[in-house]
Amino acid sequence: MRVAIVGSGPAGFYTASALQAGAPGVGVDMLERLPTPWGLVRLGVAPDHPNIKAVSRAFEKIARVDGFRFFGNVEVGRDVSHDDLARLYDAVVYTVGAQTDRRLGIPGEDLPGSWAATEFVAWYNAHPDFQHLEFDLSGARAVVVGNGNVALDVARMLALTAEELAPTDATDESIAGLSAARLGEIVVLGRRGPAQASFTAPELAELGELAGADVAVDPAELELDAASVAALEEGRETARRNLEILRGFASRPPAGKPRTVRLRFCVSPVQILGEGRVEAVEVVRNRLETDASGAIRAVPTEEIELIPASLVFRSVGYHGVPLPGLPFDERRGTIAHAGGRVVDCPGVYVAGWIKRGPSGVIGTNKKDAAETVELLLADAEGGLLGRESDEPLEDFLRERGVDFVEYAGWESIDDHERSRGSEQGRPRVKLATWDGLLERARQLQRRG
Ligand code: NAP
Repeated sequence: MRVAIVGSGPAGFYTASALQAGAPGVGVDMLERLPTPWGLVRLGVAPDHPNIKAVSRAFEKIARVDGFRFFGNVEVGRDVSHDDLARLYDAVVYTVGAQTDRRLGIPGEDLPGSWAATEFVAWYNAHPDFQHLEFDLSGARAVVVGNGNVALDVARMLALTAEELAPTDATDESIAGLSAARLGEIVVLGRRGPAQASFTAPELAELGELAGADVAVDPAELELDAASVAALEEGRETARRNLEILRGFASRPPAGKPRTVRLRFCVSPVQILGEGRVEAVEVVRNRLETDASGAIRAVPTEEIELIPASLVFRSVGYHGVPLPGLPFDERRGTIAHAGGRVVDCPGVYVAGWIKRGPSGVIGTNKKDAAETVELLLADAEGGLLGRESDEPLEDFLRERGVDFVEYAGWESIDDHERSRGSEQGRPRVKLATWDGLLERARQLQRRG
């Protein structure tokens, strides 16, 4: 059996691993638009979280299993179509993640200085498509909209000192820019209350340990409405721990560090203001209301406030993009599927964020991928899978002049980055341009 996996992030690797376990000897070809694998583990996880990135060691093991092959610098839709893959493989699994950011839908959202958090994250993490962006960090205040872990990553990266940034694998340009930033305050806006924040507790607690930034919370904004109290009693452990940590922050006097990360609750941006660039964010105070379904929602009051700021990072979640020829659920931003089987498309499957939406941590994808692979293997067992052609993908790509990067090419990039990193006491110094990555991938010889 030959299976194509499109996308090389955690969901892609966990899919490969489940296939290898369930169908020993299976041929797995992993296609990736970039020359490098690992998806958000390389390009999303914050540079000061090396322990989270250590999961890449598991991905390396999966890549060493016989039958696994990597095809980087191959874009489905440009270099090979879905129909081609369906012809060349018994099954195709899309693990392409959620590739755009959700919009706020407010005036001023597109003013210079207002960024999707994903752009900033991709920039400091060396994504080759985002290195031309210029973040003006010379202002006094930045506003981060959203109460998820990405918002915390962005707030923390803005608050780190030069010493904290130096040993990371953030790009040299971003380390220089962030170290020289004049920001005094980073304000994080939650539209609902502290009990509804999506942060996970360890990430929230980390804000209290920054060398160069105090964390500030107004105790009045931690007062809970009756519905939140009831929800907490019903047992959202993460929310309870978050609240404990926030109360700790609120009772802590500032230590006089050069920056402050200020966590605000029950406030929504209404518009972003400025003459030609961001100068302020107008926010409205919300009250919480329980709707007919029992969900606690933010409802705007009349109370308006202006927060002067030169930078806005919109961190309100990701959104999947449709794949040509496959059914798409526009509201959820996912491919329409049942347990991972794409609706009305035999032999086509999904796993990860394009299947369940942009939620969960890296490990969540393991169970998710296993569920998809179980159905795929049941379909194979039931004689429902098959391919029209035995043509190897490399022949197909070479015939069309596609300059693909094999796993050995990625290893060449990896060796180079790690050896440059070890000279500087950093995990790696990433190559951040397409030319640099492709040139290094051509030098397939592994060091030592
Ligand atoms: P998220 O956890 O879904 O958070 C999105 C936040 O945006 C929520 O607080 C949401 O508030 C808010 N929001 C949505 N629309 C809004 C609007 N119009 N105005 C104001 N706020 C709005 O998403 P994420 O932070 O992008 O993270 C994605 C996933 O990656 C999560 O599962 C996260 O845990 C994971 N992740 C994990 C780590 C880590 O483990 N260290 C790091 C980064 C990301 P409501 O709740 O009110 O909708």
